[in-house]
Amino acid sequence: MSSVERQRWDVVVVGAGGAGLRAAIEARRAGARTAVVCKSLFGKAHTVMAEGGIAASMANANEHDDWKVHFRDTMRGGKFLNQWRMAELHAQEAPERVWELETWGALFDRTPDGRIAQRNFGGHEYPRLAHVGDRTGLELLRTLQQKTVALQQEDHRETGDHESRLKVFQEFTVTRVLKDADGRVAGVFCYERESGRFLVLEAPSVVLATGGIGKSFKVTSNSWEYTGDGHALALLAGAPLVNMEFVQFHPTGMVWPPSVKGILVTESVRGDGGVLRNSDGERFMFDYVPDVFKEKYAETEEEGDRWYEDPENNRRPPELLPRDEVARAINSEVKAGRGSPHGGVFLDVSTRLPADAIRRRLPSMYHQFKELADVDITAEAMEVGPTCHYVMGGVAVDSETAAAVGVPGLFACGEVAGGMHGSNRLGGNSLSDLLVFGRRAGLYAAQYAVSGAGGVVEADEVDAARAEALAPFDGGGENPYTLHQELQQTMNDLVGIIRREGEMAEALERIGALRERAGRVAVEGHRQFNPGWHLALDLRNMLLVSECVARAALERTESRGGHTREDRPAMERSWRPVNLLCRAADGGVVLERVRTEPVRPDLLALFEKEELAKYLAEEELEA
Ligand code: FAD
Repeated sequence: MSSVERQRWDVVVVGAGGAGLRAAIEARRAGARTAVVCKSLFGKAHTVMAEGGIAASMANANEHDDWKVHFRDTMRGGKFLNQWRMAELHAQEAPERVWELETWGALFDRTPDGRIAQRNFGGHEYPRLAHVGDRTGLELLRTLQQKTVALQQEDHRETGDHESRLKVFQEFTVTRVLKDADGRVAGVFCYERESGRFLVLEAPSVVLATGGIGKSFKVTSNSWEYTGDGHALALLAGAPLVNMEFVQFHPTGMVWPPSVKGILVTESVRGDGGVLRNSDGERFMFDYVPDVFKEKYAETEEEGDRWYEDPENNRRPPELLPRDEVARAINSEVKAGRGSPHGGVFLDVSTRLPADAIRRRLPSMYHQFKELADVDITAEAMEVGPTCHYVMGGVAVDSETAAAVGVPGLFACGEVAGGMHGSNRLGGNSLSDLLVFGRRAGLYAAQYAVSGAGGVVEADEVDAARAEALAPFDGGGENPYTLHQELQQTMNDLVGIIRREGEMAEALERIGALRERAGRVAVEGHRQFNPGWHLALDLRNMLLVSECVARAALERTESRGGHTREDRPAMERSWRPVNLLCRAADGGVVLERVRTEPVRPDLLALFEKEELAKYLAEEELEA
């Protein structure tokens, strides 16, 4: 077998979105020689698409805000299934991470007295999202890129080489995490997209920061990169994924024209006053406030409207319920025949804000609708419907260190990591998650690496990875695009926003059959930039992750957050202390039930007893 080029680093970060770059910066600052590998161009990660903002209790817009309120909102949003220590660290550290970003050059929108402005978002008690218009992710990533370059310039001054301690391998795709004979992480195997050449990066620490899984679904807000690679890499390396049944369907994606179906309409539209109406012109969300949230949301349109001016004395409008609630409500309205002409509902900001305010506060939305749908949102309502947006499930990690469970040297942060958001993520809590846990992952990965841990990549591991990557060139005639389309349709139709037992069982059968066909996937041509080959390799990941979602969704016989079962519509308190772990086995996936760690008493004390009684299982209340 021909030799594959090898390079030695201390830490390899897979992914250059917000989580990956924040991890890489911290690892480099902690003294580790750090390589970053990313599938697309440097600066083009999914994070640039984030619109609404970063959630952090800086209390600039409401002095009553603090980390405890943010923690409470996050736990409520996740229906108490969050890994509570992550939610605590996230709420405590998010403000510092935002301030830090500003010292690195981020330019957030300001309040009239010059502080960082914060906007309302669903499920957040106070205006909490620091933002840059509706292009916050772009500014976040730009700032992290700028910091990366600044560190490289520092290294150049000291060593004469910009890339001596921090190097970005752009347009390289990792297909395997490699381990040593003792089961410790030893590096990664990747290919360069343009040339097709293979490369092994040896390192005792590997940080997965690859983002989400949306490309397994037909209608999604996610970009082409979201093929669940990090989820699959972790599974194949022996780490479990936690609670993969929880997939967030954002309530407001574009529904028309078909070519743009699924593209996100930011929650900021509702945060800034936009309202949802059905075809009868009714603000239907007032009919969909669940019991657990009744006391916190307005009962009349008048009260909801007053809240924008006087939040102290009024309750928020139900358009700002957590995303899972709003998505289900829209789904029900459409099903009841009260949808818009193209199968969504109406989202109207044109009658709520002056045209120039809309153009100023929501510039991307204005252009998106004008250019893609020929709709002027300053004069007309948008048509919107649910779109697959975010995965709450992910690599099971230690809350403090972001270390993946059971695989020494493997770390995960950002959307690929599970636990933080429980069964449903609040808007704005991802960008803060990336910064908080990106920093932690980088720090602990560096500490682990420089402690002298980690072994040597075995030659047969490299040979196996190489053979696996080349297999589609000798495949048996299955077309990767056909298989991908069939998988997307299956996930959309059978494991989508509303789930049923029989359909999920059917999905598992279809996924099994697709996996078998994927074993014969064939591509033509050569290794130089060959999208068919790239997709053929991504298919393994999407199939594995889809099986995790379907298997866990079938197992959890209740509805909670991003998992709604028509045949089990209630949230069952007895399921609260249960996490579902997926592990790779025999080419597929097996499930394991594990108990969640009991929430620390001082954190439980932040909630009223009556509220806890709505969420916690009987035995947890008695304890
Ligand atoms: P990403 O930013 O997606 O980065 C993943 C990286 O991994 C990329 O560099 C990719 O190339 C790389 N990668 C993937 N697989 C491989 C591989 N096999 N080998 C090498 N590299 C690989 N959240 C908020 O908090 N606020 C918002 O306002 C908000 N708005 C959003 C709007 C949209 C349209 C979308 C889709 C999401 C939004 N989110 C928002 C969610 C948030 O943007 C994402 O959850 C977050 O950016 C994920 O960041 P990440 O660093 O985990 O992954």
